[in-house]
Amino acid sequence: MRTSLAPEPPAPAPAGSRGVAVRALGLVKAYGSGSTTVRALDGISVAIGRGQLTAVMGPSGSGKSTLMHCLAGLDTVTEGQVFLGHQEITALGDRELTRVRRDQVGFVFQAFNLLPTLTAEQNILLPLELAGRRVDPAWFEECVGSLGLGDRLTHRPSELSGGQQQRVAIGRALITRPEVVFADEPTGALDSRTGHQLLALLRRASTELSQTVVLVTHDPVAAGYADRALLLSDGRLVDDLDRPDAAALLGALQRLGD
Ligand code: ADP
Ligand code: MG
Repeated sequence: MRTSLAPEPPAPAPAGSRGVAVRALGLVKAYGSGSTTVRALDGISVAIGRGQLTAVMGPSGSGKSTLMHCLAGLDTVTEGQVFLGHQEITALGDRELTRVRRDQVGFVFQAFNLLPTLTAEQNILLPLELAGRRVDPAWFEECVGSLGLGDRLTHRPSELSGGQQQRVAIGRALITRPEVVFADEPTGALDSRTGHQLLALLRRASTELSQTVVLVTHDPVAAGYADRALLLSDGRLVDDLDRPDAAALLGALQRLGD
C-alpha cells in the first residue's frame, strides 16, 4: 500500500510515454453454459496508457460494463489475464483482490451510489476511512477544489443536484489516488450540459492530476474529450482510435449500428 498520497508533479510527458496502467490479455467472460452461453467478452487484449483518458464505446450489450468490471477486479474472468500496474489481479485470492479494489481502483457508477446519511465530505473520505488510511489534506483540497465542491461539503446527497452528486462520487473515486479510475456511463443520469462539465473534470483529472481514467460513454462528443477511444462490438475490440473527434466516433458507432 502506498503511504504517501501527495500528488505527483504535473507530468508534461506526451500521451502513452508513462507506461501501462492496466492490461488485458485474451479476456473472455462467458455467462451461462451450453447452447445458452453468452460470451460478453470474446477475447479482448488491450493496454491502457498511464495518465490517459480512454473512452470505451459500443452498442448496448457489446460488453462495455463487463470489460470495466473485469479490469477493475469487480468480476471474475472466464479466461485470460488482467494486470493492474505490474500485478496480475486475475491471479489473486479474495482477500488480496479486496485490497486491490479498495486501494488501487476507483469506480464511478451510472447511479451515483452515495450513502444518503453521510455528508458530501464523509462520502468522499469513506474509502480512506474503510482502509484505515489518513487523509492528505492537500490532496483532499485539490480534489474538492477541482470538483467545485468546496461549498457543498456539509450537504447530504438529497441536498445536492445530480451533477453535484456525481462529482462527489468522482471525488470518492479520486481520493485514494488509485492506479485507475473506471467510470461506467457516469453522465447517463445527467443532462447533457452537466454531463459535459463532468467529463471536462475527468479530462482535468487525467491532464492535471496524472490520473488514469477509463470511461464508458454513448456520447461521441463526450468521447471527444478522450486521448483514445476503444470500440466494442459483440464482446470484441473492433476499433481503436487515437485522439478521436466526435465526427469520427459518430461514424464508427453508426457503422456498428449503435
Ligand atoms: P454493455 O455495458 O455494453 O451494455 P454488458 O457488459 O452489460 O454490455 O453486457 C454484455 C453482454 O453480457 C450482454 O449480452 C448481456 O446481456 C450479458 N450479460 C451481462 N451481465 C450478465 C449476467 N450477469 N448474466 C448473464 N448475461 C449477462
Ligand atoms: Mg453497460
